[in-house]
Amino acid sequence: MRKAIYPGSFDPITNGHLDIIKRSAGLFDEIVIAVLNNSQKNPLFSVNERVNMIKELTKDIPNVSVDSFQGLTVDYAKEIGATAMIRGLRAVSDFEYELQIAQTNKVEFPEIETIFLTADLNYSYLSSSVVREFASYGGDISKFVPEEIIPTIREKFHSER
Ligand code: ADP
Repeated sequence: MRKAIYPGSFDPITNGHLDIIKRSAGLFDEIVIAVLNNSQKNPLFSVNERVNMIKELTKDIPNVSVDSFQGLTVDYAKEIGATAMIRGLRAVSDFEYELQIAQTNKVEFPEIETIFLTADLNYSYLSSSVVREFASYGGDISKFVPEEIIPTIREKFHSER
């Protein structure tokens, strides 16, 4: 069984994340999307909200599950028996940070391999922060996230006002 984790903040999940999830589901027996529960990051969406949005969007992919974790990603990966970690690379700006993290993780947990998938050209500009920014001004986010989760995102800004 080749089990990989795809860790991230997913605040919220975007079409770019979903593309990486679908592509990695074809490469591994099992993918666990691991939502980072980091109290210092002050996310817009709660862990539960983030997990539920991802579950809704991945429910038809049989080898994908969603979980949340606290602490070090490598510790979580070890705990669930994952041997690979998926990350997406959008631009050179992602590279330096991602390389450093991957190499640090390798020191901590030599058995784990970080697998980088290059972002789809259609989504290489896309980030959760772009979605939050557009949504906060009532902008059109239909090209950024699947329509199923648009009401949840809109509601968040509506209730905050
Ligand atoms: P983090 O806070 O760990 O950077 P993110 O939720 O922002 O979490 O991203 C999780 C992973 O998905 C990262 O590897 C990031 O580079 C990748 N990613 C984010 N947006 C995209 C995108 N549009 N296309 C491909 N990969 C992406």
